[in-house]
Amino acid sequence: MKPETAKKNIPSTNDPLQFVKGVGPKRALLLKKLGLETVDDALRFLPFRYEDLSRVKKISELVPGEHVTLAGTIANTGTTSMGIRKKVFEVIVQDETGFTRAKWFQFTEKYMKKKFPVGNFIVLSGKPVINRYAGSGLEFVHPEAESFAEEFPGEESIGQIFPVYHATEGLPIKALRNVMKNIINVYQDRIEEFLPEYLLEKYNFPGRAQALANAHFPPKDTDTVELENFKTAEQQRLIFEELFLIQLGLAFKRNLRKNETFGRAMTTRGPLIRQLIKFLPFELTGAQKRSLGEIMENLEQNFPMNRLLQGDVGSGKTIVALTALLTAVDNGRQGAMMAPTELLSEQHFSSLLPFCQKLGVSIELATATGTAKDRRELREKIANGTAQIVVGTHALIQEGVNFNDLGLIVVDEQHRFGVLQRDAIGKKGNQPHALIMTATPIPRSLSLTLYGDFSVSYLDELPAGRQPIKTQIFYEKTREKAYALLYKEILKGGQAYIVCPLIDESEKSSLKAVVETLAYVKMKFPDVSAELIHGKMKREERQKIMSDFQLGLVQVLVATTVIEVGIDVPNASVIMIEHSERFGLSQLHQLRGRVGRGERASHCLLIAYYPLTEEGKARLNAMKVFSDGFSIAEEDLKIRGPGDFLGARQSGMPFLRMANLLRDFEWIEIARNEAKHIMENNPELNTPDLKKLKQALGHYLGDKLDLINVI
Ligand code: ADP
Ligand code: MG
Repeated sequence: MKPETAKKNIPSTNDPLQFVKGVGPKRALLLKKLGLETVDDALRFLPFRYEDLSRVKKISELVPGEHVTLAGTIANTGTTSMGIRKKVFEVIVQDETGFTRAKWFQFTEKYMKKKFPVGNFIVLSGKPVINRYAGSGLEFVHPEAESFAEEFPGEESIGQIFPVYHATEGLPIKALRNVMKNIINVYQDRIEEFLPEYLLEKYNFPGRAQALANAHFPPKDTDTVELENFKTAEQQRLIFEELFLIQLGLAFKRNLRKNETFGRAMTTRGPLIRQLIKFLPFELTGAQKRSLGEIMENLEQNFPMNRLLQGDVGSGKTIVALTALLTAVDNGRQGAMMAPTELLSEQHFSSLLPFCQKLGVSIELATATGTAKDRRELREKIANGTAQIVVGTHALIQEGVNFNDLGLIVVDEQHRFGVLQRDAIGKKGNQPHALIMTATPIPRSLSLTLYGDFSVSYLDELPAGRQPIKTQIFYEKTREKAYALLYKEILKGGQAYIVCPLIDESEKSSLKAVVETLAYVKMKFPDVSAELIHGKMKREERQKIMSDFQLGLVQVLVATTVIEVGIDVPNASVIMIEHSERFGLSQLHQLRGRVGRGERASHCLLIAYYPLTEEGKARLNAMKVFSDGFSIAEEDLKIRGPGDFLGARQSGMPFLRMANLLRDFEWIEIARNEAKHIMENNPELNTPDLKKLKQALGHYLGDKLDLINVI
């Protein structure tokens, strides 16, 4: 890194962090891991929580289930075993009123020992639960905790309210806090305002410098309840500023697009569609018809469609997609369908193939596997238009795949794709129409922001004749009962999936789990035909097993999470999920959606193992109680808190730093209106009072704008 700005003596918020007091090259790398490279990045890296040391409770005052912050010293630490391979790290905390215990189940011993040396001071916060063997009768499971070598830094250095940041290994929170303090000290005066004066007045917002400084280090008299809920004027201003920039960016782009070349209108309800309807073995649901109507309406416009099709697992999105694809073919153009996994694209291919054959439409499967010659031939067919419909993974959007005339692209299970991939596919054709499908319900406020001006169609009705799925939880001791249930279903003619989780993120260890499970099933039920399927298998092998399962020749399919999305075998009526406590809620719901797709009454058997975290318990319980995707998403939100809701997989907006789309949804609408107001009056943002705003827009969004509204 070249210390360009360091040469100048005037500090600027664009300075690289490396030259901030307390950072240096090593920490600069760690900060980069957090996505922080400049002072400005760090300023916008706000605490996700605060520790209020002015309201610390004593151990004798603990009440079960009541959230508290506790301060004391570490009296002892140690690791104990609970059965094979299950270990607990415990910290005994002492204050002048007594002892209590904190424990962690998932940890690296070395790291914990270093983090919590005996004799250190400790601050922890969480909800105590009853355990009569703990000193105070109460203990903390997985609390937030921090230890200090010296007595807590006094108010002269930090204040009574401590910011808590998402730290990273190697960069303890204390160090991060000090870096932030140094930044505020040196740079606070350099922070420029960019919101126009009238907005500050209208919403009674503090200036930007004050807002950032106080959000990092709240003054002593801050209302801590407001603070915890991100409702202080300072926090609200920062939230607004971020959402406002995004909305302004979207509006700006919409404006530009008005002048862009148009997409091409299609004729809908052509001959292929009419024949398809005749061939369908079922009547379309009302929701399918309505969604199709909405799609057709878009396709008839000479403006590229941007439509999101939201439908719970099993609601019948595929057939809607096929109809849209065939409309492109009816118009002499090509259709493409992109799926997140090889397995799912193979499935789509084989379920669409019979329809295409009957209709005389050529359909091809494009995946990363296959010989170089196969791939070259396929590319030729795509390029000269002989391939009318192409189904594939992201191989579809690789360099060198050029469509003759791509009219429509369907992206299935959108939540599994990164934003960049969607961006790449948008560039594949000459303004293709786009249909994005997802089973993950996204609250409206969120989709407005995430998808800008996407229109949304909802498949809010399941095909007739579906029976509810019965979900049950089993534990190590009752696991046999679950297997007995599974066996009973198979004797009745059903089929089953058994899913094992990815352990330690490594494919290898999860393979071991499936292999062992398969052996167990074969040993227990020698008369049942069972096979295994996983991501690392050869394609032919996998296809053979999938098609045997489809035909009913294989009765039990033991699988890794490769079967998570999209797989459709209507006769499958049992899904058993091993170590279900390790799965996220939306993932469990997706997996459950593999059954209950036909007319059989289906079962979802969740096998859980102790120790269970509070969250783990809550997730399993939610699965038992709720069956539809929307309630599941809401529960997920409650359990995990909005911060995590979009998860790594779905973090389509890596640049959202301060606002939280769910918590702050009221501001989205306001920001949208304010942005609209500016665009209507001054679309170029070229008046003096908007100059800084325009700069901020370029600075913070710049090329990222393309990512918000990609296709
Ligand atoms: P998802 O929305 O999860 O992608 P699919 O498109 O895979 O759902 O459809 C689930 C199952 O329901 C498939 O077997 C499909 O053939 C069937 N299906 C779709 N639409 C209907 C309908 N209108 N009536 C009956 N079955 C349907
Ligand atoms: Mg699907």
